[in-house]
Amino acid sequence: MKKVLELKNVSKKYQAKNGEIEALKDISFFVNEGEFVSIIGPSGCGKSTLLSIIAGLEPKTEGEIKLEEKIGYMLQRDSLLEWRSIYNNVMFGLEIGHKKTKESEEYAIELLKKYGLYEFKDKYPNQLSGGMRQRVALIRTLAIKPKILLLDEAFSALDYQTRIMVTNDIFKILKNENITALIVTHDISEAISMSDRVIVLTKRPATIKNVHTINFEMENRTPLNCRESPKFSKYFDTIWKELDVHA
Ligand code: ADP
Ligand code: MG
Repeated sequence: MKKVLELKNVSKKYQAKNGEIEALKDISFFVNEGEFVSIIGPSGCGKSTLLSIIAGLEPKTEGEIKLEEKIGYMLQRDSLLEWRSIYNNVMFGLEIGHKKTKESEEYAIELLKKYGLYEFKDKYPNQLSGGMRQRVALIRTLAIKPKILLLDEAFSALDYQTRIMVTNDIFKILKNENITALIVTHDISEAISMSDRVIVLTKRPATIKNVHTINFEMENRTPLNCRESPKFSKYFDTIWKELDVHA
């Protein structure tokens, strides 16, 4: 298996006005090509910090990060631009990365068609449901052809029913496009249902408490159908007990 991302002893201290805030301490893990890995931990423990460092948006204090592939980044807010059509929102990702060529535009159109958004291309974000908006945000990210996608609480703004459907939808698209995913969430069910491994973090400063391999031993696993498996609740209980939710 090829490692596409590896962290070794990564630490992060923020210099704040009233002193130092230690967010991450000695974080080491790897992600193999094609794998879906979730990171779960209590609110404020350092999860977004970790993704920002991997994305290169924030400097680390110590440690090493090996990143073999191009990454994309998806956040809690879909951050679609309300005044731009769906088509122009998808193109925006290419524009800001100075990647808009005839080829990249054609690839984006292909994605819009493949994932049922082309007929909505002239609509505006406020004319779409939360689930559809999230799909547009995903297509915008995929248009830059990332190999690894970082998702930071990407579904948490959606209501429960929508969240389950959107998670399923996005899982299938990512598998179909051979994307490797690193998913940050505080939702245990979401982590289990999407991942090959779940990394549990402690409260701040985040350290790795445990790593769980998730295997439902089923063909055509999807986030929806693995929720039916008896193993699902076993994984849930184990991780629930480990998570320091009262911290
Ligand atoms: P999580 O995503 O797990 O909720 P964060 O990574 O956002 O946690 O934050 C971890 C800790 O680092 C928090 O205590 C937060 O207040 C602090 N923090 C985050 N960003 C900054 C910053 N830019 N400057 C100072 N402290 C920060
Ligand atoms: Mg966060």
